[in-house]
Amino acid sequence: MKKVMSGLAKFHDEVFPKNRDLFASLASGQKPETLFITCSDSRIDPSLLTQTKPGDIFICRNAGNIVPAHGEVIGGVSATIEYAVLALGVRDIILCGHSDCGAMRALLNPRSVAHMPAVSAWLRYGESARFVVQENHSHLSGADLLNALIEQNVLAQLDNLRTHPAVSARLAKGQLNLHGWVYDIGSGEVTAHDPAQARFVPLHASAPALA
Ligand SMILES: [Zn+2]
Repeated sequence: MKKVMSGLAKFHDEVFPKNRDLFASLASGQKPETLFITCSDSRIDPSLLTQTKPGDIFICRNAGNIVPAHGEVIGGVSATIEYAVLALGVRDIILCGHSDCGAMRALLNPRSVAHMPAVSAWLRYGESARFVVQENHSHLSGADLLNALIEQNVLAQLDNLRTHPAVSARLAKGQLNLHGWVYDIGSGEVTAHDPAQARFVPLHASAPALA
């Protein structure tokens, strides 16, 4: 907690005064163009990763960057998505998984979280990804298996995202773009799913730029 409190003091004394105009412009409203959905993992900093400022990205985080399909759970994730799309009018939704994801590791080893009923129940929404990997990549093990699941989970959650009425309506109008990313913590590299190639490719090389 000491680290947090000294950081807060630094923000108050140094950072805020230097950015007073930015915060004044944000004081009465926001107009972010992107919803960023990612894992709660402490090693991910969406604003650092995308070099964005306060007000630029609307963020939804949970263990495993999971989006339950519409109707399965009416909760924080559904409400955040609906608000981002309908009230804020975001044009892009990035769903970003990451390397060494503890939630995905637990999905491969459910017994490791058997004593955590809430985590176990939440990870059920990643079950379709696990099943796809199990059926199609049965030769993989260890880190390769985990990485395949991390990618497949991003695709599964993008599918779930499309079931949300606000998302499907804006997609149909051509007013929304969905992006599936995986952030590699150790290398800093981000790969994005390229539907044409049906695989994840380095983002800086071939993924379309965000509007
Ligand atoms: Zn994670």
